Amino acid sequence: IKAYLGAMEAARALNAYIVETPEKALEMAAASDARIANGEQRPLEGVPIGVKDLFATEGVHTQAASHVLDGFKPPYESTVTANLWNDGAVMLGKLNMDEFAMGSSNETSYYGPVVNPWRKEGSNLPLVPGGSSGGSAAAVAARLCAGATATDTGGSIRQPAAFTGTVGIKPTYGRCSRWGIAAFASSLDQAGPIARTVRDAAILMKSMASVDPKDTTSVDLPVGDYEGAVGQSVKGLRIGIPREYRIDGMPAEIEALWQQGIAWLKDAGAEIVDITLPHTKYALPAYYIVAPAEASSNLARYDGVRYGLRVPGGDIAEMYENTRAAGFGHEVKRRILIGTYVLSAGYYDAYYVRAQKIRTLIKRDFDLAFAAGVDAVLTPATPSAAFGLEEMAVASPVEMYLNDVFTVTVNMAGLPGIAVPAGLDSSKLPLGLQLIGRPFEEETLFRLAQVVE
Ligand code: GLN
Repeated sequence: IKAYLGAMEAARALNAYIVETPEKALEMAAASDARIANGEQRPLEGVPIGVKDLFATEGVHTQAASHVLDGFKPPYESTVTANLWNDGAVMLGKLNMDEFAMGSSNETSYYGPVVNPWRKEGSNLPLVPGGSSGGSAAAVAARLCAGATATDTGGSIRQPAAFTGTVGIKPTYGRCSRWGIAAFASSLDQAGPIARTVRDAAILMKSMASVDPKDTTSVDLPVGDYEGAVGQSVKGLRIGIPREYRIDGMPAEIEALWQQGIAWLKDAGAEIVDITLPHTKYALPAYYIVAPAEASSNLARYDGVRYGLRVPGGDIAEMYENTRAAGFGHEVKRRILIGTYVLSAGYYDAYYVRAQKIRTLIKRDFDLAFAAGVDAVLTPATPSAAFGLEEMAVASPVEMYLNDVFTVTVNMAGLPGIAVPAGLDSSKLPLGLQLIGRPFEEETLFRLAQVVE
């Protein structure tokens, strides 16, 4: 723990941690030492973990990297982090992220962007770590924690994992409790780990997953033996290759990586089949209606009355206005505006209802593939490697949204998806492949992921 705390201090330029909690870490580590001395070791005894700032941590800074939650220290702990601490893990601090998990580059954080520890060969240009769990991914890649909690509403675990050469899994919707995680889009949000290896991710996921009476969308199904699944044969598993993911303008390097992944799985005894997911092209636009709609509703609670920032005004309406104007950043305001627009009486049917219908069709595409005997789907995780800081942010919000083209379908369909580092591009930056599985069959993903890793 001391070594990690030292590494964190030495790597502050990466801006991965918003808050370091050394006292708490040393206290938890001492408790772990005592347990070990007594022969009462728990599964994650003494394992140093970083926590995305979206997770409520009792008595510790929790602001979703937003100014609107200024000074908020929750009186309760999220279920996912409580599960980790109950298994003996040690908290090192709170990790930077895009504000309220809205973004793909970690540049919307009130605390400034995170810098990716990777560089292009022969270049010193700072790169983004991806987002929204950019702090989690950068911290794991730079060895500033052994693993991190993260969340994924439309790719926020998998895309940053791909950009930093780490492993990230978004479990099936309902696998982890959302209780104590600041809500972005409640029907899409899911927690999961980012870790250095497939095996580490499996170990962390077992601890994080649980049914929870405090989250009625968490599911009462046995948590699998994920670690045991790592290393199991993939012989005879059928892997679907969706032709719709071969998008226009996809770099040759990404296509080559995909072919390499196919070859590895084939060599390991899996069967490769071509499949069609015909509604894929509607996923991104539909996601950017559903997610902002739910966000605009969820973020209504940040009104300056209950917690966080309050900017006074002449009357209560003016206080709301002043608080929100000062408290939310540009991207969050953009999402709230889009969300309230698509939910407004005149446009509800044209946008929101239609997006929900598309969501059903996307889910059905996967259902049909699985019903035809496909065990998992293999795709690239992202359309490119990590890009330069400010490169996309200055281009346009839509350019930024295009990063999520391979990941959002998985959230729309509620499926589990894992991003695994699978190679390097020509400038020696990490690239990831994504495996998508049947609902609640995360074990299959862990089996397959190790072949690609
Ligand atoms: N980049 C996506 C967005 O901005 C995904 C975010 C997420 O998964 N939290 O909405």
